[in-house]
Order: sequence, then structure tokens, then C-alpha cells
Amino acid sequence: MKQVSYKGLNFVPYLDSATIQARIRELADRITEDCRGKRPLFLCVLNGAFAFASDLFRAVDLPDAEISFIRLKSYEGTSSTGVVKEVIGLSEDISGRTVIVIEDIVDTGKTIANLVTDLKKQNPADVKIATLLFKPESLKTEVNPDYVGFEIPTDFIIGYGLDLDGLARNLPDIWVLNPEHN
Ligand code: IMP
Ligand code: MG
Repeated sequence: MKQVSYKGLNFVPYLDSATIQARIRELADRITEDCRGKRPLFLCVLNGAFAFASDLFRAVDLPDAEISFIRLKSYEGTSSTGVVKEVIGLSEDISGRTVIVIEDIVDTGKTIANLVTDLKKQNPADVKIATLLFKPESLKTEVNPDYVGFEIPTDFIIGYGLDLDGLARNLPDIWVLNPEHN
């Protein structure tokens, strides 16, 4: 069976690049409709969301859209540390603007919930969440992402921006930890 290995862990295919790209185009079309006439600021949560943000942002058809980047980290190895810290802050003035936070994955939801709370203190018109992946069964706080690429079970996945301790972000496809061979 096709597999990749990182740090002695084996991963098998989960979502291929064509499937990911097709879904991103659907999300981009919805965002385009919802934001027509607005000046949305897309806010990519680094590092994991860089691949998704790059493809999503280029697929939206909004002449006044802008993108910026924020860096957060809450993960070590294959389980959440539960500690969310902001590493690089936001420099844009977001008051009165529609902010679309772009995340790679919502797992416990703590990262995104903290970020949304922080953003709302700066009086944006609206804060929306776009996440490529969503693990609803892992949620530990109330989060309702507005745009979800794929709802997935509580599996550990890598590729297309998602990492195992910094590795595997450059895989074009998404791979899942193989429970039978680890
Ligand atoms: P949360 O705060 O628990 O929702 O975690 C969100 C962050 O954890 C994401 O932005 C990812 O960086 C990381 N994460 C959660 N699940 C996975 C996974 O399956 N693979 C890789 N990283 C993950
Ligand atoms: Mg991340």
C-alpha cells in the first residue's frame, strides 16, 4: 500500500490534491457571493494554513480583497498542548472590516476561539472562519466555522500545510496516520 513515513510513523492516503482543489473552488465561490461589494481581509493563520490560504485567496473573485498573516502555535507532536500563544501579531486596522480567518484545521477549537475573541476586541464588522478541515468530535469549545472544506474524524493527518513537528507540510496530498501499522 502507498504510504509515507515521518519520525517512524506511517501515513496512508486520505485526500488527494485534485479533491482538495475542487473543494477549495466551491468554498471560494461561496465566499465570493457572500462578500460581493465588501472589502474583506483574509487572515491566514501561519504556519499550517499557508497552502490553503494561497489557493483559496487566488480562487476568490473579489477585486477589493486583501490578505495578511498571523502566526499562532498550540501543537506539539500529534496532540494539542492546549496552550495557545500568539507568535506574530496583526498589524492591520480591522475596525469596520469583514475578516475571514483562514485555518488549516479546527481540532479542539481553542486556537480559533482565542483568535476570534482577540479580533473582536478590535471592532471588525464581522469575523468569519474558513477552515480546510474540521474535527467536530474533538471540539472542546464552541466554534462554528462558516466555511468548512472537509469534516473529518479525530485522526491525525499531515500534508498540504499540516505538519508533524514541522515536517510534511510540502506534501500536495493529505495523509492520515495508519492505525494498523504504527
Ligand atoms: P486546536 O486549537 O486544537 O483547534 O488546534 C488547531 C491547530 O492544531 C491547527 O492549526 C494545527 O496546526 C494543529 N492540528 C490539529 N489537528 C492536527 C492534525 O491532525 N495534524 C496536524 N496538525 C493538527
Ligand atoms: Mg495551524
